Amino acid sequence: MTAPLLELRGLVRRYGGILATDHLDLTVIEGETHAIIGPNGAGKTTLIQQISGGLSPDEGNIIFQGKDITHLPMNQRVHRGLARSYQITNIFRQCTVLDNLALAVQARSGSSMRFWRPAMSESRVIDEARALADKIGLGGRLDTLSGNLAHGEQRLLEVGLALATRPRLLLLDEPMAGMGPKESRSLMPLVQSLSEELSVLLVEHDMETVFQLADRISVLVSGRVIATGTPDEIRHNAEVRKAYLGDEVSA
Ligand code: ATP
Repeated sequence: MTAPLLELRGLVRRYGGILATDHLDLTVIEGETHAIIGPNGAGKTTLIQQISGGLSPDEGNIIFQGKDITHLPMNQRVHRGLARSYQITNIFRQCTVLDNLALAVQARSGSSMRFWRPAMSESRVIDEARALADKIGLGGRLDTLSGNLAHGEQRLLEVGLALATRPRLLLLDEPMAGMGPKESRSLMPLVQSLSEELSVLLVEHDMETVFQLADRISVLVSGRVIATGTPDEIRHNAEVRKAYLGDEVSA
């Protein structure tokens, strides 16, 4: 049995009388791409925010690599290998793609306390930034101002900024949102290639993407996980179809 990388135990988050997260249990296994799906208002965003550290749970525990991180601030979670793309980092729109990536690499490596001595030489920072640009498919856009990138390219850059933190688990919150079909097609192979080197927890509305990318899917309804399984198991799960998918994925 592969060790759990992330474990959520009895997580609760209330908004007044609403239980946005209702005693939720979920496990992400090392190396998997795990998708969370569910109807509007099911609690997906609230859940991702608790995992990334933007929101505190009212009850329950978040265990990452065997350590309880329930009350750890966001930056310390990133330092431990839990990064969130889209929202943890903001692109500097007036800077080039290369500079954005180099700044992110330096921010990670500069966590050394020896502030009078750079933790990494400039050329190593630039080399790593170039390699990241190649990985996210922006190797040909190094000198482009990030504000001039197409929407989909900015999304790719955001993933690159998260990757610069060298995560073990990457949280992707609706990466395909607002993307056209052509742009989505460039993100799919990236997520697929990432899954060879790290674990991914993905919230996504686009069912085609989810069923293609995920090793396992958890279905969230009213703050609870009603089913977890392979895409095939979820597709054929009677409770899931009744509560959410209907005939959407049967075609
Ligand atoms: P969507 O797919 O529409 O983005 P979601 O699955 O991400 O929805 P959440 O946004 O997490 O769901 O919301 C879960 C529940 O908590 C909903 O009933 C929502 O109205 C409520 N909620 C979320 N944020 C707040 C808030 N800041 N104050 C009050 N209620 C909130």
